[in-house]
Amino acid sequence: MKLALGSCSPPNAVRCYEHLGVGDALSAVAVEPEESVYRRFDTAEEMLRAPLRSKMLATYGARYFHVHRADLLDCLLNAVSSNDPDAIATGHVLSSFEETGDRVFAQFENGVAADGDVLIACDGIHSVARGILVGDDSPRFTGQFAWRGMVPSEGLPASVVEPNSVSWLGERKHIIQYGVRGRQFINYVAIVASDEWTEEGWNCRASASDVVDAFADWHPDVLALIAATPEDGCYKWGLFDREPLDNWTKGRVTLLGDAAHPMLPFMAQGSAMAVEDAVVLARALAEDGTASENLRRYENVRRHRTNGIIKKSRQATSLYQRLTGDKSEQRATNLDDVYGYDATKIVL
Ligand SMILES: Cc1cc2nc3c(=O)[nH]c(=O)nc-3n(C[C@H](O)[C@H](O)[C@H](O)COP(=O)(O)OP(=O)(O)OC[C@H]3O[C@@H](n4cnc5c(N)ncnc54)[C@H](O)[C@@H]3O)c2cc1C
Repeated sequence: MKLALGSCSPPNAVRCYEHLGVGDALSAVAVEPEESVYRRFDTAEEMLRAPLRSKMLATYGARYFHVHRADLLDCLLNAVSSNDPDAIATGHVLSSFEETGDRVFAQFENGVAADGDVLIACDGIHSVARGILVGDDSPRFTGQFAWRGMVPSEGLPASVVEPNSVSWLGERKHIIQYGVRGRQFINYVAIVASDEWTEEGWNCRASASDVVDAFADWHPDVLALIAATPEDGCYKWGLFDREPLDNWTKGRVTLLGDAAHPMLPFMAQGSAMAVEDAVVLARALAEDGTASENLRRYENVRRHRTNGIIKKSRQATSLYQRLTGDKSEQRATNLDDVYGYDATKIVL
């Protein structure tokens, strides 16, 4: 299922997409925001305005994009399929794996078995492979949940359809909105602090009227956006993370993306970390050495980076969910080493 969700692709991720040969395809479907604007939840008073379009390429060597996730996945799918039409098999749920000699054998719930030189498990925050590899450390509810929606721009008040990334800041709540698909749609993520997650599962369909109720005292532009969410276009997500791992590789098996290092979305770096992982992993596997040495090399480079971003993502809560504090200073200290990281060149 392709959820109607948007995603921020920061320069450190866009650099990786360019390296993988999908830079042109991505820039054709992505939106490049002009600025990042922070507003007070009720009055829309501007609390911070920071350049994106004029700064990112000049400072970090790559652009900052907003993209519909289905479009990003299509870019990647087309590139993989044109390289090898048989590379992807869907509908296989991993249940177990075993390393024997110089092979790894994977077993899927549908009865299919497969083997290879290495197993790279990128099965998300609830990774089965992680449970087998490092034991069962349950994901931790972080005390936040998110409603996510995608709204057609047509019919919205002109003030809502900005060429910027807009963050609306309140106490223990915030909303981020931005345009995707040539700004034909506005994507929003509305995050709320909460003591517990009571839904079954970790994401579910939701009703926009619940979001309107939760943000009833917010600015009319916010309410106009949320109220225009299509009937089947709103989802609710519990935000979970896990403590950073000391290692996530054993022999010929390793983890990648959220399976290895799930994090809060407040730096918009989760999928950026996954694509950085992919670039470093491919480079490591091309090095001299055995498969397990090269997987270990990949993990050694990535563990330090991703543990740092997990920490920054937790700290970034205060950038968004407190009205006090120097936002410009907090924003600046968080960004340079995050966006400047170059997975295509980092020493292995
Ligand atoms: C509210 C919110 C906003 C976010 N915003 C951003 C953003 O703006 N920018 C950003 O970079 N990141 C963002 N993220 C984080 C980002 O979504 C994740 O970090 C990213 O999706 C991780 O990619 P992944 O491939 O590791 O895992 P997933 O995207 O979770 O993919 C895992 C895949 O594995 C499959 N799978 C699961 N179990 C098995 C199994 N046993 N066998 C086989 N397959 C299996 C799943 O079906 C799924 O297709 C956000 C997250 C949230 C919750």
